[in-house]
Amino acid sequence: MLKWLNKVLDTNAREIKKLKETVARINKLEKKYKNLKKTDFKKTTKKFKDRLKNGENIDEILPEAFALAREAASQALKLRPYDEQLMAAICFHQGKIAEQKTGEGKTLSAVPALYLNALTSKGAHLVTVNDYLSRRDAGWNGPIFDLLGVTVAVIIHEKAYVYDTKFTDNAVEDPRLKHLKEVSRQEAYKADITYGTNNEFGFDYLRDNMVQRKSAMVQRGHNFSIVDEVDSILIDEARTPLIISAPDSEPTKKYYQFNSLVQGLSRDTDFDSDEKHKTVNLTEHGIKKIEKKLQVDNLYEKDFDTLHHIEQALKAREHFIKDKDYVVKEDEVVIVDEFTGRLMFGRRYSEGLHQAIEAKEDVKIKQESKTLATISFQNYFRMYDKLAGMTGTAATEAEEFKKIYDLETVVVPTHKPMVRKDHADVVYKTVRAKYAAIVKEVAEKYKKGQPVLIGTTSISKNQIIDQFLKRKKIPHQVLNAKNHLKEASIISQAGRLKAVTVATNMAGRGVDIVLGGEQKERKKNEWQKEHDKVLELGGLHVIGIERHESRRIDNQLRGRSGRQGDAGSSRFYVSLEDDIMRIFGGEQIAKLMTTLKMPEDVPLEHGMVSRAIEQAQVKVESFHFDSRKHLVDYDDVMNRQREIIYKKRKHILKAAENKKSRLKLKEKITQIVTQEIDHLSNLHINPDTKQVDHKAIANDFVMIVPFDPSSKKRLVDQLKNKSAEEINLVLSQAMEMAYKQREKQVGETLMREMERFVMLSTIDHLWIDHLDAIDDLREGIGLRGYAQRDPLVEYKAEAFNSFEKLVSSIDYEIARKIFRVSITKRPQPVDSQGKEIKPEAPEIGKAETKPDPSTSRPVIENEKSAFAKAFSKAGQTTKTSRPGLEVEVGKKKIGRNDPCFCGSGKKWKKCHYPDKG
Ligand code: ADP
Ligand code: MG
Repeated sequence: MLKWLNKVLDTNAREIKKLKETVARINKLEKKYKNLKKTDFKKTTKKFKDRLKNGENIDEILPEAFALAREAASQALKLRPYDEQLMAAICFHQGKIAEQKTGEGKTLSAVPALYLNALTSKGAHLVTVNDYLSRRDAGWNGPIFDLLGVTVAVIIHEKAYVYDTKFTDNAVEDPRLKHLKEVSRQEAYKADITYGTNNEFGFDYLRDNMVQRKSAMVQRGHNFSIVDEVDSILIDEARTPLIISAPDSEPTKKYYQFNSLVQGLSRDTDFDSDEKHKTVNLTEHGIKKIEKKLQVDNLYEKDFDTLHHIEQALKAREHFIKDKDYVVKEDEVVIVDEFTGRLMFGRRYSEGLHQAIEAKEDVKIKQESKTLATISFQNYFRMYDKLAGMTGTAATEAEEFKKIYDLETVVVPTHKPMVRKDHADVVYKTVRAKYAAIVKEVAEKYKKGQPVLIGTTSISKNQIIDQFLKRKKIPHQVLNAKNHLKEASIISQAGRLKAVTVATNMAGRGVDIVLGGEQKERKKNEWQKEHDKVLELGGLHVIGIERHESRRIDNQLRGRSGRQGDAGSSRFYVSLEDDIMRIFGGEQIAKLMTTLKMPEDVPLEHGMVSRAIEQAQVKVESFHFDSRKHLVDYDDVMNRQREIIYKKRKHILKAAENKKSRLKLKEKITQIVTQEIDHLSNLHINPDTKQVDHKAIANDFVMIVPFDPSSKKRLVDQLKNKSAEEINLVLSQAMEMAYKQREKQVGETLMREMERFVMLSTIDHLWIDHLDAIDDLREGIGLRGYAQRDPLVEYKAEAFNSFEKLVSSIDYEIARKIFRVSITKRPQPVDSQGKEIKPEAPEIGKAETKPDPSTSRPVIENEKSAFAKAFSKAGQTTKTSRPGLEVEVGKKKIGRNDPCFCGSGKKWKKCHYPDKG
């Protein structure tokens, strides 16, 4: 890792040199655009677009476009982007990550790159970590884009806006956001530039691949994307895929039973426990105990499920700690993000672990649900033709960005030299002594008036610090998941005189901490006085109450201070009892604990300790890297399969779009049916005797094309003494006639509708079953490792087989459905706008003969696929086509009235509820 870092730094210098050359070219053009008239910006944009249309390369336009964008920013916002910001912008355009320290102005840096890439009219996306920042940044940059003559929009919750100066909303809290006009999601995606969160973009993509009509899709491809806080999104959140799911009905009682079952087990005798990997393993002794309780002879023979659930119940008891890993809120177990301390509403642990914790906490157990669609962030973002990233901390993760995303990292110099003083760690033997020392330092700073930001790793630790400060009577703000709605405003005031702010380490990320606080309603000179005073006192002092699992997160916390050349300082406090030291510190630390006979309240100064901390972090980092890499390796398999299936769907949607192309659907289906019929003769010919089993063929044939008994008898007679080819011919002719007849009966329009429906619904429900199967496969595959085989190789092979089966099942089912599906009049299917699609023929007949109940398909509206369930009830209560839809992040479903998965705390229906148009 370190070697890699050095290499990066070497190439970095060269990279910077090149960037500076380009910036020099942009600077030369500055005069040309200086004092440009308002209307001339748009005209110049038009010229750029024309030049691109005439074959000029986008890179050739860069210097002029960037110079124009800079001038637009200077005029519209009175902010002239610094050379360093242009350097970053060039990196974005080149599809790289630029590391710019916190406060350097990333929001503005993105503008030239977004503008340049918007000139191709293929769309440019800017991804932020939360809705607040999406709206803020789109709104704040809006005037620049508007001046330049490109459109900018933002997607959040269930809403979407476009920046439009003809519209004004004076009720908004931030006047800079007053020109955001609500529009449909589709319109927001049609804008040249679209801001939104990773969740919003990802879910929209998944939903777009669940729609029944092309007109309901909202996205228009994945051209260019800049991901803000890219390390957060592509690394920290990389392990939680996006999932859309529907509820399933499994008995939940069993989880309580398993929970009480494991209460009688004790560590070491009944099971081994590994804190580092959060695993448990039953010992022989423990298994015997359970077998006795359950009154079974052999637990392994019972079923794998039971064993799995018992281990999950144990894990829940051993490794998942209330108020650290999760909180119980309103009878619900809510996961706490280990990095941000944020409550992850809607997110659930997978594989029954969440239910096990619910049982442990004796709250209502939510049922497991069925996955309808899923994608990892890695794979979502890898779809973009060009991907770029911004962050204050990327260098330590450069290797991972390169290996997994093929993204280069460039470290851009700060505009003004960084003068923050990062003090060496202070190390105590015990946690208690450490906290006492922290509070002592806070008290000193507070007395002086210097603002202090205390960064913690969890809400429970916030509370501990809170207690300590209260006891010392130090006024302070505690920021945590429970008051996170005010997060931005609290953090923005953390730089005020005498401010003491306690926050989980990434709370309020993206929010600028200005020394002296935000000016807001204060007079400029009043603010200036406070600002200067704080500067004089040494700026913001950051205290980390422990080292995080990765150096990157430490750096993020430090980066809160010393922005834009401000004075500032930081210090981390460490104790030998800290998790990271205990778990990853190794024997060195354990030895130190016993050999050092110093009093608790004297900090240790031992080179060994600092080294051990670094080593521990490197260990954890590579441990996490490996597990993410592992995830990607596995996910790649599914990704390719998803691409194939989604492509199939898209073809169908596209064909169904207009009257002429609809005939392609018919073509495709008759081709599928013919193929299936051809299979029959092969299936029922004895390869040795060449004897044909006519009866069997006819039997199978009527499974495809329903014939009444007398017609069937005639058919058998017809097939007698015929060769395989002749049989195929007779059957396909019979099929084609039946098809014609059916089309005549139901009418052309409806027939095309049925074709579309049969194809989509078959693909969807088989794909969903496949997702489940692959999930199980993945869970089970770990066990194969014992048999000296590479689980990944095994997994790939089996996933491939399973997919082949899926593809052939799709054809098989389509062929056996198309003649049997029938449409009744009520309720009508609805389109994306919730409007009824009126069939042209009023009442449509059923299949030609009375269908055999065992093989016939129910009417369309009753299609029991999970998709159909999700899309049912449409248009009745709300104006959306997907009211039954359950969105899930991680592994969990939420209902309309549940808190939204985004962590906003709002009800889902009021927040990220899908579909607005
Ligand atoms: P980052 O995302 O890099 O932490 P922000 O984009 O939040 O930083 O910007 C931090 C502050 O710097 C904002 O108040 C912004 O207005 C200001 N800023 C950015 N660019 C410039 C500039 N070129 N000139 C003056 N102020 C700037
Ligand atoms: Mg930012």
